[in-house]
Amino acid sequence: MKENTTPEPKASLNFLEQIITNDLENNTTSGKVHTRFPPEPNGYLHIGHAKSICLNFGLAQKFNGKCNLRFDDTNPTKEEQEYVDSIKEDVRWLGFDWEDREYYASDYFEQLYQFAVHLIKKGKAYVCEMTAEEISANRGTPAIPGKESPWRNRGVEENLDLFDRMRKGDLPDGSHVLRAKVDMASPNMHMRDPVMYRIMHAHHHRTGNDWCIYPMYDWAHGQSDYLEGITHSICTLEFEVHRPLYEWFLNELDLPNLKPRQIEFARLNLSYTIMSKRKLLTLVQEGLVNGWDDPRMPTISGLRRRGFTPASIRMFADRVGVAKRENVIEVGLLEHCIREDLNKNAPRAMAVFNPVKLIIDNYPEGHSEELPSPVNPEDPDSGHRMLPFSKNLVIEREDFMEDPPKKFFRLAPGAEVRLKSAYIIRCDYVVKDEQGEVTEIHCTYFPETKSGLPSDKKVKGTLHWVCPEHAVEAEVRLYDRLFKVSDPEEVEEGEDFRVHLNPESLKVVKAIVEPSVKDAIAGKHYQFERNGYYVVDKDTQPGNLVFNRIVPLRESWVNTEKNK
Ligand code: ATP
Ligand code: MG
Repeated sequence: MKENTTPEPKASLNFLEQIITNDLENNTTSGKVHTRFPPEPNGYLHIGHAKSICLNFGLAQKFNGKCNLRFDDTNPTKEEQEYVDSIKEDVRWLGFDWEDREYYASDYFEQLYQFAVHLIKKGKAYVCEMTAEEISANRGTPAIPGKESPWRNRGVEENLDLFDRMRKGDLPDGSHVLRAKVDMASPNMHMRDPVMYRIMHAHHHRTGNDWCIYPMYDWAHGQSDYLEGITHSICTLEFEVHRPLYEWFLNELDLPNLKPRQIEFARLNLSYTIMSKRKLLTLVQEGLVNGWDDPRMPTISGLRRRGFTPASIRMFADRVGVAKRENVIEVGLLEHCIREDLNKNAPRAMAVFNPVKLIIDNYPEGHSEELPSPVNPEDPDSGHRMLPFSKNLVIEREDFMEDPPKKFFRLAPGAEVRLKSAYIIRCDYVVKDEQGEVTEIHCTYFPETKSGLPSDKKVKGTLHWVCPEHAVEAEVRLYDRLFKVSDPEEVEEGEDFRVHLNPESLKVVKAIVEPSVKDAIAGKHYQFERNGYYVVDKDTQPGNLVFNRIVPLRESWVNTEKNK
């Protein structure tokens, strides 16, 4: 453990940390750091959101500040309580706490309305009667200025009256909008009199039927930040072009308190993964995966069920860092993080997937013994589990070769290997069936080589094994990557990301597993020795164990481009 570390030099801070450090040094935010994570409750969170959560809550922790959870619930037609609940569960599971600061943009609808009235009174907003199509047709292009709305210069009183009628429900959907009066010739399209409110007679999951006008994202977001006292409003790069509008609103409102500052970073992109909520929804709705928490999904609930730990995801977010330019992170990094975490923390177990009988001819018939093996050799405090051993065992079929190449250190006729935590054995002969397949491997064991005893006998290979008489049978779901290609968004014309789905992303097999796993409950992790990391799935039941493969022990995916 490293203790008493000297304060990090400024250069090792990422650019967000540098900005915050400067703000604190120059007292631009009154010594405060207050961030927020602002999900729209219209889907389940994914690994990209996890990055944003770790960043926002992480910065607050690092600088002794606070981070709010704010639901950006301004679109009543797409949002549901189910999503709110799942988001809260996911943030908590990742290890972060918003304490009593659970906010909703909809909490501010009245205040936002009053802010809009302020802008109308200043002549900075107007009610426009163009349709959505007309507004878009008159917006121009970045090179060609837009056309001003014929309603742009109506008087304040008329605007106030119409805005009031919009709110009261007198006017039908789509007939009127409130627009900010900025600049129809601005080279920034977002500044061309953006819509602030639209009429939508729709039920809202929190405000019910109280409102029939709803604020647009750009209008709601910055003002919500202000109302919560956010100092650093961190968002992804696509909002960079929105920043002038973000600042315009805050300036025009003549606000008394400290104004938030928007800062952008590059969103997380991950190879072999899609992150668009819309596309993830398609996978769920079309039954291409088994729900939002399908272990192949990049959702936080999917990763959790797959067996990823909160620590591994935080480690990943940390190692990814923050960038100012778009980039793609190798999914191998995420897999590396879970290996690193579970190598330190997961108990070991032996499981045989493709068994072949191994018979120890010189071991007494009917006898068995229990051999201790470390629960986790990386953790000296983890103790031992007991492995039943007898004359009749199984090993992996692929650990035996009748005619092996030179560097095959596993079992072959005449060869000697160690059975993990047990004895050294020698293969004497094999029995085959009519097809020529090996059905029994007959061996001699050397009692003096019992694990833990001093012995001069040395061997190059160590195999895992199970004693079937005392073992449990388990269902194992072998997950592979959901997509066959690194960039599933890249498709030929007329195709979409679904053509890249990996048809072999799930194989269900049986395994024979040592008895220590017998009573394992859902969520419990294991390293199956020499094989991979696994977690007990929620479908598990007494007498019917179900494991998910998280990752193989080493990077060895077969269905990837690299290995074609
Ligand atoms: P959409 O806007 O299409 O619904 P979204 O992914 O932007 O999807 P939000 O709920 O608005 O969803 O996102 C909440 C927060 O998470 C935002 O601050 C957003 O910038 C951040 N975020 C979303 N995707 C990523 C990503 N891939 N990497 C980092 N942050 C992300
Ligand atoms: Mg968004």
